[in-house]
Amino acid sequence: MFKLDIVKEQIRQQLLLSTAIERLTGQRMHKGRILCPFHNDTHPSLIITDSKGLFNCPACNTGGDIYKFVMLYLGLNFKDAITYLDKEFDLNLLGQRISVKQQIALREQEKKRKQQEYIRVKQEKEYNNMCQDYRICIISLDKLEPWTDLWCYYLEQKAQLDCRFNLLEEGGSECA
Ligand SMILES: [Zn+2]
Repeated sequence: MFKLDIVKEQIRQQLLLSTAIERLTGQRMHKGRILCPFHNDTHPSLIITDSKGLFNCPACNTGGDIYKFVMLYLGLNFKDAITYLDKEFDLNLLGQRISVKQQIALREQEKKRKQQEYIRVKQEKEYNNMCQDYRICIISLDKLEPWTDLWCYYLEQKAQLDCRFNLLEEGGSECA
């Protein structure tokens, strides 16, 4: 859906056709009719059907929806008719909706960028620490008497580090 279509749908839901027409023409609807502004009307012949959102004048055969009315009455194109309704009836759909959406999108992008940077720095730091620990393990395993408690401890540490290195390469987060 284009943004104009979204706004069009929202205006349709939030604004009664009769309310808009009454405001525009300065007339009060009587028995669902007003004097037709599109021909020289003497007896109210323009019929407004709010349930369908349509107007119709059988005398001059003019009809349509809220946008058609605004376009004809004010001589606007479709886009300007929507802008007019949005402003005139304080719907604030055009400006608000789009800017909020954009703000959210920008905030999400910013958040994602910061998270990635944070992860990168954290991983780099973690990687350096792991490399250091790994070297200690290798040296200790080489120096210590095999199968002593301490040697087994370093063996286990080394196995855990191997797992974490693999996970870092694969982009994972936790060792089992
Ligand atoms: Zn008419």
